[in-house]
Amino acid sequence: MSFDTLGLSDKVLAAVQAAGYTTPTPIQEQAIPHVLARKDVLGIAQTGTGKTAAFTLPMLTMLEKGRAKARMPRTLILEPTRELAAQVEEEFSKYGQHHKINMALLIGGVSFDDQDAKLSRGVDVLIATPGRLLDHFERGKLLLSGIEILVIDEADRMLDMGFIPDIERICRLIPMTRQTLFFSATMPSEIQRLADTFLHQPARVEVAKQATAAATVTQQLVATGSESHEKRDVLRGLIREAEGLKNAIVFCNRKREVAVLWRSLVKHGFNATALHGDMDQRARIASLDSFRAGETTILVASDVAARGLDIPEVSHVFNYDVPHHAEDYIHRIGRTGRAGRSGTAVTLVSPADTRSLAAIEKLTGVSIPWISTPVAADAEDRPARSERSRGGSRRSRGSSAPRGRQESGRQESGRQEGARQEVARQEVARQDGERPERKRPENKRPETRRPESRPAAEAKPANIAGRSRRPHAVDEADENLFLPAFLLRPTRIKAE
Ligand code: AMP
Repeated sequence: MSFDTLGLSDKVLAAVQAAGYTTPTPIQEQAIPHVLARKDVLGIAQTGTGKTAAFTLPMLTMLEKGRAKARMPRTLILEPTRELAAQVEEEFSKYGQHHKINMALLIGGVSFDDQDAKLSRGVDVLIATPGRLLDHFERGKLLLSGIEILVIDEADRMLDMGFIPDIERICRLIPMTRQTLFFSATMPSEIQRLADTFLHQPARVEVAKQATAAATVTQQLVATGSESHEKRDVLRGLIREAEGLKNAIVFCNRKREVAVLWRSLVKHGFNATALHGDMDQRARIASLDSFRAGETTILVASDVAARGLDIPEVSHVFNYDVPHHAEDYIHRIGRTGRAGRSGTAVTLVSPADTRSLAAIEKLTGVSIPWISTPVAADAEDRPARSERSRGGSRRSRGSSAPRGRQESGRQESGRQEGARQEVARQEVARQDGERPERKRPENKRPETRRPESRPAAEAKPANIAGRSRRPHAVDEADENLFLPAFLLRPTRIKAE
């Protein structure tokens, strides 16, 4: 099948050809004719399947007729994160190179004024995160009554981030006569309900759920202790020993950990940068650009920030933390081994991670091999108490290097064995009917909360370390929870 048969305009076909694409991907092949026939579409597909072009190409074709009026955008694309919104804007620019279309990107962390100026000039394509869109609407700067096509992208991620009430509100502000294109990687009941409410007799198109990683990714496990400094030691060893490492993304479960790990890697001489949800927009863009351009070798990232990012050549992925949700593992390791290239994904596993690891192996149907834990030649300094508590052998500065290495090796292989045994024990317990893994939290965020739209962020200078702007900031993994500040204060243990 070629693009010519899908009904796209000549201008769009020329841009597709210029991009070097010869064959539509399955989601494009299935969705584009329905979109051009003005049908609602429910697309079940993940990033990496070509789903962005599945809606941008027909939208561009349809936008060739008609003109935008001031403050009344013609189409609206909702994205869960700023990075995804920026990526969709790039795709529109790429495929719309022969078109005269006005675009505006409404995302948090950048000035309202520039966005306002664009809206007042008339916009064909408005790409927005839900919070910032509603902020503009509430200021009376935006009318949604002219929207002809609404795209809700990454709906399940919107659910994870607590955006569903915002999405429902936005859907109600747009005329019923619109065409709605709805994309989600998975269809939990909450998302199905949303689709049932806001789509009109949709064409359902589905590409196979990605429960397996690309065959080109070599997956490995490494046993570590649970403490952060131990994990940092192991990670440095892995990076130093990695074969053919060109660049790497290191995934952490928590924003706070991203900032700590990034600082530690830089301190140890690595060329690293960071990406997480509490960094301001300029810092996020700077980080991504330098990683994409190859100026930085290591990107330390959280899941939410890195979701769906299209970085074509990543040789290694390190899971500094085992992700809590097995689908996130697939997504993370899918950042490498893209487009038939080979890649390596190494996951650090502590005894506390055994349930999460079992869930990953169950989902992927793969028993991931263990590799030996690297010996940390530059183990971080520890307070005396922590040295004593583990017998003082491994990082005793006074010990001779060979002895240190030997003991360290013994200890590592014992720990590795311990982690393996723990996985096996929990797997047996699970099969014996022990309580299953804790359920993924559903959307519990209060309806008014829209994290990406905090105006306070705008005045702040670029801050790559990403110190939280919220006094009660919690980790991205726990975004749905509000904790009192005293629970977030670090605990001090009195020295003996
Ligand atoms: P997406 O799933 O939209 O994030 O797309 C993933 C990647 O596939 C992007 O780099 C696109 O530029 C690329 N892509 C989209 N359509 C095609 C196609 N028909 N052939 C080859 N690559 C494509």
